Amino acid sequence: MEIQREAQLQERLGRQLILFPLPLQGHISPMLQLANILYAKGFSITIVHTKFNSPNPTNYPHFTFYPIFDGLSESESSPNDIISLLSLLNQNCIVPFQEALAQLLADKSGDPIACLISDAILHFTSAVAKSFNLPRIVLRTGGVSSFLAFAAFPLLLEKGYIPTQDGRAEEPVVELPPLRVKDLPVIKTSNPEKFYELLASMIQETKNSSGLIWNSFEELEESALTKLRQDFPIPIFPVGPFHKHFTVSSSSLIADDTSSISWLNEQSPNSVIYVGFGSIAAIEEKEFIEIAWGLVNSKLPFLWVVRPGLVRGAEWIEPLPEGFLEMLNGRGHIVKWAPQLEVLAHPAVGAFWTHNGWNSTIESICEGVPMICMPCFTDQLVNARYVSHVWKVGVQLENGLDRVNIEQAIKKIMVEKEGEEIRKQVLNLKEKINLCLELGGSSYNSVKSMVNYIASF
Ligand code: UDP
Repeated sequence: MEIQREAQLQERLGRQLILFPLPLQGHISPMLQLANILYAKGFSITIVHTKFNSPNPTNYPHFTFYPIFDGLSESESSPNDIISLLSLLNQNCIVPFQEALAQLLADKSGDPIACLISDAILHFTSAVAKSFNLPRIVLRTGGVSSFLAFAAFPLLLEKGYIPTQDGRAEEPVVELPPLRVKDLPVIKTSNPEKFYELLASMIQETKNSSGLIWNSFEELEESALTKLRQDFPIPIFPVGPFHKHFTVSSSSLIADDTSSISWLNEQSPNSVIYVGFGSIAAIEEKEFIEIAWGLVNSKLPFLWVVRPGLVRGAEWIEPLPEGFLEMLNGRGHIVKWAPQLEVLAHPAVGAFWTHNGWNSTIESICEGVPMICMPCFTDQLVNARYVSHVWKVGVQLENGLDRVNIEQAIKKIMVEKEGEEIRKQVLNLKEKINLCLELGGSSYNSVKSMVNYIASF
């Protein structure tokens, strides 16, 4: 294992870090990747995790895993009401996490503990760490630009942009250019107050933390980072893209379907649209059918991840019209979960139709793959706006999810002149990523500062 080899060469620092990821796929993966970066720099790593969505330790024999009780019932563990789930985690885990920290701090057989690194959304960890006098650093797994939009919620509420109204969707939010009202990071929920409270606590306890780590890089979010440094006067470490610092082990909670790669091996370079909407987003059956027909009508090959639970009210792909799969005649391949990093790096993939979760967005840029953006909620809405209008590495599906729009967006990116420009632009950004990771590059330097800072505790 490359990381272990690097770590053996690296002098061990004799310090232990406690990492606590939020138990959702898009948060577990970056936390484990960060853990690998820190392990390679000489820290020993303990991962505290809930039983719900517990990570698979077998891919990480060099870490210690410490499960805690989360008290979630089966129905509460569903991501259907994500805001309730996040609030419950922030309540239920207080005592178990307190007990875990007490035990870990009392255990003198391991390296002394330097600090806690917690997901920003687990805001309750701030008070617990403080009660033990343990420094707490925050990992925010989303982008900086969307975080600033979350931080602006009190202002957005005061000015009436939020709750968002359909009639004002196209209106620019002058305080947060280039966002329009419809790009604000909201979510449909039965209890918006709970959402606002969660955000306020996340922002406040990030401000109160000893430092803030990002899976982003200086060159991508320069102006957002400048603003962040003004508003959050704590050490800031943009050390991303995390997964490009080393060869990644899988942290998937669902088994990767490797037939994705054998199918891609049969396709021509840059010919395939990869379609995947992450681990939580869900769509209506009607939308699912439009996507299916849009893909068929584009006449291009596609690899489509239909996660069980993606289509509301369906088990998997049974809402597809009868004979649909046979009609594809091998031109489309549907899987439940793909090894996404490998898929995006495959030469056959020409575009990524994504929901613009931050990990998917960064992963696509890293491999120079242009995007078709279909954000569903919260930060995805901001990310999609930046992809299409700031970095100009994708197009956004805006005028409704119907088969004609879909076919047009696919053609725009795969065959038209605009697509060529977008492809050039994303390859340009990919090159910037390569540079930021090299000796003296921005993320390389940021890792160094982060390690020195943490080792100073
Ligand atoms: N992913 C994957 N296979 C899939 C779909 C997603 O490995 O079929 C991974 C993807 O590479 C990314 C993560 O799951 O690292 C999803 O995170 P993201 O922030 O994009 O979206 P979320 O799931 O949090 O909405």
